[in-house]
Amino acid sequence: MLGGMTHTSVAAYAAPAPKAPLERTTVPRRELGAHDILIDIKFAGICHSDIHTVRAEWGDGGNFPIVPGHEIAGVVSATGSEVTRYQVGDRVGVGCFVDSCRTCDNCRAGLEQYCTGELGTVNTYNDTDRNGEATYGGYATHVVVDENYALRIPDALPLDAAAPLLCAGITLYSPLAHWQAGPGKKVAVVGLGGLGHMGVKIAHAMGAEVTVLSQSLRKKDDGLRLGADHYYATSDPATFEALAGTFDLIVNTVSANLDMGAYLGLLRTNGTLVQLGVPEQPLPIAPFALIGGRRSIAGSLIGGIAETQEMLDFCAEHGLTSEIEVISADRINEAYERVLASDVRYRFVIDTSTI
Ligand code: NAP
Ligand code: ZN
Ligand code: ZN
Repeated sequence: MLGGMTHTSVAAYAAPAPKAPLERTTVPRRELGAHDILIDIKFAGICHSDIHTVRAEWGDGGNFPIVPGHEIAGVVSATGSEVTRYQVGDRVGVGCFVDSCRTCDNCRAGLEQYCTGELGTVNTYNDTDRNGEATYGGYATHVVVDENYALRIPDALPLDAAAPLLCAGITLYSPLAHWQAGPGKKVAVVGLGGLGHMGVKIAHAMGAEVTVLSQSLRKKDDGLRLGADHYYATSDPATFEALAGTFDLIVNTVSANLDMGAYLGLLRTNGTLVQLGVPEQPLPIAPFALIGGRRSIAGSLIGGIAETQEMLDFCAEHGLTSEIEVISADRINEAYERVLASDVRYRFVIDTSTI
């Protein structure tokens, strides 16, 4: 018993303390409430945010032990008494949050990721739910989630390659849709990692002209195969001269600090740079880089539930999935090192049957 509710223990991988390697453990899952579904997790993607979080790089200290994982794909194995949206056997996903206040203007508008209510957006892990209990993520065998915060994974999408869509996919789909990437628009994707490779695929499917800006030309063949029209190395200063004033939209997925002025110079008049990566340190901006050309810098956080479903349906319609390397759970720590070294093509996905 915890907090007056009964719980079941499930196997998981957790970081016991900041920067410590992840290890096998068990965590509690609540008994099914009326609107809860029990998901038999099949696959969980490794997002760079998982790594920032367990390394306590975002300044909030963290609520250890932390079970990361917010790119969850699985199958419904039980339903609460009043569940109407899902049945046992349905293929479902869970993304970065599992609840929100449901009544604030943002929640009502389908922008639950920006919930302003007292509860706020309840993150899938390293957070506290409405019962006051710690949330634990998808590096586990099972999760219990309210049916209103689960997504339906279309039959056309395999569960392993669909898992990363729940964070990487929606994180790119939402700003690309909001800033209207499409025919006639020049879009640059900075960083060809987990987020970036989905940005290339989705922006291409939306009809935009897509350029990858990567540290080197090492992944150029991949980038072009994924749908990019152009590919440049940011280690080459000539890139910034050749592309000055080119893009309507730049989506920056890089997890480290970049020279923002150099990238803002690549925007055309009225262009927007959307910051998606969340490096540990602030990013300095020189005002002249914005003033000249009436440029904007913006940010975007994942997407709401309805938009995430729209993204999954869009990916099914266009045949888009993540490029993945499926690993067993005992390789999570090694995978983290490879992500940190930009040695990922393009998302590690944990086969949770190995936990
Ligand atoms: P990732 O797979 O590690 O990809 C990041 C890419 O950035 C790398 O593949 C690399 O691309 C480039 N990069 C890494 N270090 C660099 C450096 N020092 N200088 C220049 N480029 C560098 O990570 P991810 O999972 O895509 O996540 C990326 C960032 O987005 C993380 O900070 C994560 O926390 C954040 N994130 C934000 C949201 C949101 O809602 N806004 C959602 C999820 C994740 P190249 O090798 O091509 O240069
Ligand atoms: Zn993520
Ligand atoms: Zn709300």
